[in-house]
Amino acid sequence: MPVPHPALPRKFYEFDAQNQIVHYSPYNGKVLPGYMFTDNGFWDTFRAVFPFFTLMYPELNGQIMEGLANTYKESGWLPEWASPGHRDCMIGSNSASLIADSYLKGIRGYDIETLYQALLKNSENEGPLSSVGRAGVKYYNELGYVPYDVKVNENAARTLEYAYDDFTIYKLAIALKRPQEEIDRFKKRSQNFRNIFDPETKLMRGKNQDGKFQAPFNPFKWGDAFTEGNSWHYTWSVFHDVEGLARLMGGRQQFAQMLDSVFVMAPVYDESYYGSVIHEIREMQIANMGQYAHGNQPIQHMIYLYNYAGQPWKAQYWVRQVLDRLYHSGADGYCGDEDNGQTSAWYVFSAMGFYPVCPGTDQYVLGAPLFPKMTVTLQDGKKFVIEAPDNSKTNVYTQSITLNGKPHNANWISHSAIQQGGTMKVVMGKEPNKQRGTNESAFPYSFTTTGK
Ligand code: CA
Repeated sequence: MPVPHPALPRKFYEFDAQNQIVHYSPYNGKVLPGYMFTDNGFWDTFRAVFPFFTLMYPELNGQIMEGLANTYKESGWLPEWASPGHRDCMIGSNSASLIADSYLKGIRGYDIETLYQALLKNSENEGPLSSVGRAGVKYYNELGYVPYDVKVNENAARTLEYAYDDFTIYKLAIALKRPQEEIDRFKKRSQNFRNIFDPETKLMRGKNQDGKFQAPFNPFKWGDAFTEGNSWHYTWSVFHDVEGLARLMGGRQQFAQMLDSVFVMAPVYDESYYGSVIHEIREMQIANMGQYAHGNQPIQHMIYLYNYAGQPWKAQYWVRQVLDRLYHSGADGYCGDEDNGQTSAWYVFSAMGFYPVCPGTDQYVLGAPLFPKMTVTLQDGKKFVIEAPDNSKTNVYTQSITLNGKPHNANWISHSAIQQGGTMKVVMGKEPNKQRGTNESAFPYSFTTTGK
């Protein structure tokens, strides 16, 4: 299968007279050998777009990784938001997620050592822009969080995303056989999400340098401690340790209740940080699913967390609600910005019946398929077929699953299982099967449960 030509990230290279790949560097103005890509915001695309590439287009993904290594060589930094040079936009150092996910899923052919050095530099340094490197990193590494009161914006969101990114570096460090002390450092930092969890509200909340939570605190306030969302959207940004988050909330029952609350609450908001109602807020209101703001990225994985709460049928229900109500094939078929493919990748994964909640692990967490049959043709020609013949508008609940004819009881499916090709058959029905997927052994990956 030929390497596809994605709209984004844009290919930013060409072939010279000797048919060698060259690029004009937007970082140092030189014409240099090798791949270069641009026009992508990893804050959006680490979630589902890059996992989609690793699954469907590994060769393209490897070329993009080589482009990232070139970006680091030419500018000293990884591009968190390239267009085509570094741009000051959004937060995080989510390049870690892309790089770790790519390498851990077996994609090779690029300079992983240079990329790893780039991640190490990211984890210790502020960059030239607030989206490049890690703003507030000295606080984060010393205190375990970016404080609310030290003039680093969107500090709670930074803490959560840095902690997840550190988890992916931890996994990559193990694979690269890095020194144990280094592995342990990232392992410890991956737990930093705990430092801004407020047991009183059971929500993530900005915390001051002196260890006291921000006050007053309005969990419906967009921006401020968070990025284009509020505490109710960001509290779930613990992709790598959902079990740990559930325990902080008091256990799986309470965790499930908190998930339920998202859909029950009115779509109220405080827009004062922005000074006006940004379109993402308006989209949450129009979607009419309470605080579930699918028009923006922070909460897009949240529905799948019902699988970690032992209530997978609620994931099946809400995924179908979103597929049916918030997407259509007309001119205004998206419920918000499409955002570099992220909102589309959510749809495609969800239509297949699974979603990459935690890139950097090999698991896709289950929802339920949208169609009676889908055939996924992988790069090497193997086919993975998803059959759900009883599927309909009303038959949205999974009754049972077989994978290549054998019972599949887990709430997730592995990357390697899909890569081998085969058939996943899902029996669908009108009523939820509340027995399936509730056994402890069915739960998806969580750091707290596995300890690794
Ligand atoms: Ca967005």
